[in-house]
Amino acid sequence: MDANMEDADENGCQELGKSSSFYRRIYSEVEDVGWEHLVRMGEDLTFLSFRVIDEKGRVHILEITLDTTYPKSPPSISADVPRIFNLDWSRNSKLKDVVAQFQRHVDKLQDFWSTLDDIDRSFWVVDPKDPPFAMSYRQINIGNDCNITLSINPNDPRSLPECRFLGSDSKVNLLTRKWKINCKRWLKDRSFSENLISILDIKLPEPPDVRKDDQQAECGVCYAQYLPIDDELGSKSGSATDYTCENNNCSRAFHSVCLGDWLRSITTTRQSFDVLFGNCPYCSNPVAVRMIAKN
Ligand SMILES: [Zn+2]
Ligand SMILES: [Zn+2]
Repeated sequence: MDANMEDADENGCQELGKSSSFYRRIYSEVEDVGWEHLVRMGEDLTFLSFRVIDEKGRVHILEITLDTTYPKSPPSISADVPRIFNLDWSRNSKLKDVVAQFQRHVDKLQDFWSTLDDIDRSFWVVDPKDPPFAMSYRQINIGNDCNITLSINPNDPRSLPECRFLGSDSKVNLLTRKWKINCKRWLKDRSFSENLISILDIKLPEPPDVRKDDQQAECGVCYAQYLPIDDELGSKSGSATDYTCENNNCSRAFHSVCLGDWLRSITTTRQSFDVLFGNCPYCSNPVAVRMIAKN
């Protein structure tokens, strides 16, 4: 028998063995994280994304790329956050640890995002529109044909921000002088919006559309806010929407039960274990829904 052939065969087997153990490993690690956190998974399992929900209900997506040497080499990560963290990685680390570290990172940024929410709610933000979570500046219309650009420090969001005024030279000079004198008034235990109003000491214009429609709570499939009371639905009976499309421009709410039913009716939907992978019916963003056990 040809020795080379044998070698090739053996290599082939090894490759196969290696990849199937890689698959098994990734599946069991995803299981550890919880399938309900999985948003997307590449066909060869080298790309995964997970959803983490923070204490204010904001949805954050962590993207993880693995190479075939995983877990020897750490995964690479990316996410819509102002600064990505350095991954702590050891021989015993798993995907669960990556997600946990991301969750801790997100937890640390709560004050930062609450500050930005306060700004977005209180002022006329000209730029950015629909800011991603990573964006740490806001440009605000302060009236009198002037704008102010504020940079919020993610590590110390309650401190006096760096700022830049935009407008005619004379107005900007006036505002800058006033800022320098009044910045002593900045108090860390006061809300950002109160501080800004106190420093600028002018009447700020109201944002043009104060009421941005509050989170649509109706399900995008059945158009009801609550599921009917029905034994067939088990614990979901009578419940509110429990799934939101992560695309910030969409943010459509669904009952996971309804979205699951809808996904099952679409031929391109894929299924892995009890998770359905498909696309949001409104914006085509990838969605993943875990089916409820019917017993
Ligand atoms: Zn529904
Ligand atoms: Zn959507």
